[in-house]
Amino acid sequence: MNSHKNARLTSSRSPIASGSLGERNDVHCVSIEHKLGIKASPTAVLQYGDHGGAVGYLVGQENRGLEYMFIMMNSARYAVGMQGIAIAERAYQHAVAYAKERVQSRPVDGSLNASAPIIHHPDVKRMLMTMRAYTEGCRAMASVAAAAYDATHHHPDADTRKQNQAFYEYLVPLVKGYSTEMSLEVASLGVQVHGGMGFIEETGAAHLRDAKILTIYEGTTAIQANDLVGRKTARDGGQVAKGIAAQIEKTEAELAKRESAEAQAVAK
Ligand SMILES: Cc1cc2nc3c(=O)[nH]c(=O)nc-3n(C[C@H](O)[C@H](O)[C@H](O)COP(=O)(O)OP(=O)(O)OC[C@H]3O[C@@H](n4cnc5c(N)ncnc54)[C@H](O)[C@@H]3O)c2cc1C
Repeated sequence: MNSHKNARLTSSRSPIASGSLGERNDVHCVSIEHKLGIKASPTAVLQYGDHGGAVGYLVGQENRGLEYMFIMMNSARYAVGMQGIAIAERAYQHAVAYAKERVQSRPVDGSLNASAPIIHHPDVKRMLMTMRAYTEGCRAMASVAAAAYDATHHHPDADTRKQNQAFYEYLVPLVKGYSTEMSLEVASLGVQVHGGMGFIEETGAAHLRDAKILTIYEGTTAIQANDLVGRKTARDGGQVAKGIAAQIEKTEAELAKRESAEAQAVAK
């Protein structure tokens, strides 16, 4: 970084201010990356400052970079979690459709006396139900996080906005970390449901390969765990975590009451 150049370029007569083309910055593309399964990746290796020093520009105020970065990071991590849920949902839908069509032997539980679509095999049912439960559970978690995010920005009460902000930020590493690891498991089960056909590109393998990147970019799963335990839990002495645990207990109690009311109605 060359601070002298930086000062000159950010003055009112600078190319940035006028919108005209400035001097070439010392940033060079040294290679295009070839990534696992990504055939049209536009990502590249950029080299900064090898020919005299690249110029950096301050975005926003000094010493607030980490704070700004986390606004972007929370949003990117949430979005990657959603990618995991989307891949899992697609893998599940493909697997169900295939399991209804593929006919292979009699179910081991004796429920049918002839070769049947594989969805009738208890082990295939187990796989499909696992896929669905993981996917729906993660979608529910992501929806709760999204609702908290909306409340963070639009709730009329300032304290409620603040509480929702903390709750949303707490959920982000869970949405990112758990939903992406879950998508790998679901995509793997999807390949398994397809048997040998799962290795054919159009039917299954692509979901598994596409899901792998999600546990890596925008912070690996271990980095999400560090964020959850350190920044989101230990830093405030576990206040947000305890609040969430209390909310879960309250919901449990409400559900138990509802169940007993229904049970009483049935008993009558
Ligand atoms: C397809 C793809 C696209 C990408 N796109 C971009 C992009 O557009 N822009 C960009 O800037 N980057 C991009 N990346 C880079 C990506 O964000 C990083 O690769 C990712 O954040 C992991 O960082 P790293 O490679 O330095 O791994 P490392 O930090 O070296 O991690 C290696 C291993 O060590 C573990 N580890 C590291 N630190 C800790 C720790 N403190 N505690 C526990 N375990 C730890 C990790 O979990 C991992 O298992 C992309 C990567 C890929 C594969």
